[in-house]
Amino acid sequence: MNMKKPLVDEHGRVHDYLRVSIIEKCNLRCRYCMPEDPEWTPKEDLCTTDELLELVDTFISLGVKKVRLTGGEPLVRHDVDIILKTLAERGVELAMTTNGILVDQYIALFEKCGLNRINVSLDTLKPNRFEMMTRRTGFEKVRANINKLLEREFELKVNAVIMRGVNDDELTDFVEWTRDIPLTVRFIEFMPFDGNRWDDNSMVPMAEIKDKIADKFMILRGKDGPNDTTKHYRVPGYKGQFGIISSMSEHFCGSCNRIRLLANGSMKNCLFSNDEVSLLQPLRQGEDLEPIIRDTILEKKPSHAGRFRIAEEKNRSMVTIGG
Ligand code: SAM
Ligand code: SF4
Repeated sequence: MNMKKPLVDEHGRVHDYLRVSIIEKCNLRCRYCMPEDPEWTPKEDLCTTDELLELVDTFISLGVKKVRLTGGEPLVRHDVDIILKTLAERGVELAMTTNGILVDQYIALFEKCGLNRINVSLDTLKPNRFEMMTRRTGFEKVRANINKLLEREFELKVNAVIMRGVNDDELTDFVEWTRDIPLTVRFIEFMPFDGNRWDDNSMVPMAEIKDKIADKFMILRGKDGPNDTTKHYRVPGYKGQFGIISSMSEHFCGSCNRIRLLANGSMKNCLFSNDEVSLLQPLRQGEDLEPIIRDTILEKKPSHAGRFRIAEEKNRSMVTIGG
């Protein structure tokens, strides 16, 4: 039984959700995520399997109840099966964010490990556009794998980053997709990260996304979970629903319960924070990690890492953070 005090920050937010970026690399090259010339961490500075699991275990001992594996592309990591099987024994809720390309190779393992919550990123329903946005092929594979997950009744969400002039003409097609399928499609506001050529105009804010959809459909507000980053909506009679993640135009930091652990063993207390605290070096030196983790949580700012112009300040590329 975990008897330790939970990870609470100065604003009373309890942090019990760990997002672990298990790998920096990826088999796609999404323009909004991966810089053209990415800088990779040298192998010796990345966590080994044992180190990664020890760090995750430390967070679990401090009250983490949900662990989401992300990346880069988590399914590209060679030992993802060992990581999943080990975490399945820890009794935490497991989830994954993936681009879907390799999902068919892992569905049986997901089922065995009780990993039922999967977010698949797909920003377009058009094959040519997929290639333009991801700089790789794979559209058919992702569509087929989404169908496989639906057939096996996984709790599936599709994430689409909406960029003006790129895919904002597909909002209603995505909503139409949810007519007969129990799927949640989430539209994500385009966020600025190093090397992704973000500008104010390329981001389509939540209000505009909603208006564009409401022009075609009657929409009703749906139910959001307690620490939800998504505002949900539904079209009456549709089996699925859609949601909007308004990280830029209307932040949801007040209920944030998230901690991020990167593949290099650094901890980030906020997606937008540029301060990273290495846990890997102290782990390798046999230091006690608990005070370092608690201090990092205590330093968390009330919103957006205390940055007012996040587009103008340096942050890592998204591919090395994991969303
Ligand atoms: N490779 C996996 C995938 O694509 O789902 C996991 C890693 S990816 C970095 C995690 C999430 O971040 C994806 O849903 C992706 O669409 C989102 N993302 C990446 N860059 C983004 C950006 N600039 N703005 C908003 N969301 C972004
Ligand atoms: Fe890879 Fe995911 Fe980033 Fe696309 S969004 S480049 S799939 S990590």
